[in-house]
Amino acid sequence: MDVQSTDCVSGRRFLCIGLDRYSRVSIFLGSMELTKIDVLMIMILMKKSLLSVVSLCCLVLVGCSPVSGEIGTANETGTINVVVGVYPYAYMVETLGGDRVSVTNLAEGSVEPHDLELTARQVRTLTTSDLIIYQRGFQPALDAGVEQSQTPRIFDVTTVVPLENSGEGTLDQHIWLDPVLMATIAEDVASLLIEIDPAGEEHYRANLEGLITTLNRLDEDYTQGLATCERREFLVEHAAFGYLAQRYNLTQISVKGVNPDVEPSPGHLAQIYEEVELRGLTTIFYDNSSGAELTPSGSTQSIADDLQLRIWPIDPLEQAPTQQVDHHNKYPDVMDMNLWSLRSANGCP
Ligand SMILES: [Zn+2]
Repeated sequence: MDVQSTDCVSGRRFLCIGLDRYSRVSIFLGSMELTKIDVLMIMILMKKSLLSVVSLCCLVLVGCSPVSGEIGTANETGTINVVVGVYPYAYMVETLGGDRVSVTNLAEGSVEPHDLELTARQVRTLTTSDLIIYQRGFQPALDAGVEQSQTPRIFDVTTVVPLENSGEGTLDQHIWLDPVLMATIAEDVASLLIEIDPAGEEHYRANLEGLITTLNRLDEDYTQGLATCERREFLVEHAAFGYLAQRYNLTQISVKGVNPDVEPSPGHLAQIYEEVELRGLTTIFYDNSSGAELTPSGSTQSIADDLQLRIWPIDPLEQAPTQQVDHHNKYPDVMDMNLWSLRSANGCP
């Protein structure tokens, strides 16, 4: 082909349009002449690329802005939106923050925190919150939600309090039943609230002092109340009291494991019967809380019947409180109640 454009012939231009002597248009890519099909394909590809660029811009400009807007809205109301996975952290944040915080407990009502499933609305709440407090490995649905969340501050409590092996091949997550560990966690939560809302620093520090005083008082009561007892062993349905037992030199014997859904094997039941008789235990504790109104499981009832044990409630503080209990005081109130029950079961004067 005789092309008039010298640029095309010399290859100085990568893409150019040339005219032959009959003024027919030819398109060249480098020195290669393109067919009509080639040109069409290039146009489609260019159009697609253009669309991709436009889509990307839309995602950045439109897709991201509502999320930022919602975080902004939370701040405009003057309250920090905090999401927690289990009740004791709701108590903690409300005690530290008061009116400056708004807390969402994902395991509210009768939801069993171990079996937490997130609704679409809760997933959205995770994304728009200012702070998420959770324990990695405790609630798989929440772990997944946290990974997708765009919340700038996420506090995994287990990074501050290393979890211990439950003896069942899993980690024991029930750290909130140890008031000393709660105090450690409270220090970090207060620091995070101050970071998010520096204007409230004085408020948070004063409340932290109050909370630490409460937790120290509980620790002293437990230490003294369980110092001299007839027995150091106690029998529970759900192995939620491992950290508490370790702190106050008690031994927890449990019907089920750290996960209350797992039923005991015949071998494990035989061990329990042996321990109860050997230690002279009087009581079998079952999980109960004002929020859940749980009943003893079939295996707990059978053990109690067979061994003539008293069935008594103990609260692992996993359920949110009901209206009858003052939300702000429930954690220490329940801890007091649990101490009274343990002292009674173990013959502590
Ligand atoms: Zn539990």
